[in-house]
Amino acid sequence: MIIFVSVLLKDIVEQQRDFVWERPPCCPRCDHYKVWSHGFTERIFDGFNIPLLLKCYRCPYCGCVITMRPNTHFSRFQSSKDKIFFFLSERLKTGRWPPAQSHSRYRHWLRNLKKQTKAHLTDRWDKGLLVAFDYLLSIGHTPVSSSI
Ligand SMILES: [Zn+2]
Repeated sequence: MIIFVSVLLKDIVEQQRDFVWERPPCCPRCDHYKVWSHGFTERIFDGFNIPLLLKCYRCPYCGCVITMRPNTHFSRFQSSKDKIFFFLSERLKTGRWPPAQSHSRYRHWLRNLKKQTKAHLTDRWDKGLLVAFDYLLSIGHTPVSSSI
């Protein structure tokens, strides 16, 4: 299970294992009153040449493993939400992607956003994909996820 928290990636990189993560007050799955430290997991994020150490906790009651993750990023995405939105908005407004080494990742984002919009907001959605992005986000969906 992932708990999204407000943290700065720069601080995590600089402080590594010394970074102070906020401990969840209880297990998000079973509400057990305490979770135990469960080490770290490495995750790659855009803009950093080393993996970042994300804190994990484990519930002694139900065994749930909880990973703390920056709320600036969707689950399973290396790019921040802001970067994804920026790239999509540039493409949709100008017809061109911003300069980058490879555009394949960005094309996946656009294709997935169209898929998510069609699945959750129907074919008749006429407010544009960027509004759909915000709306999907507001109802708890990852707008560029490949899975519906
Ligand atoms: Zn639990």
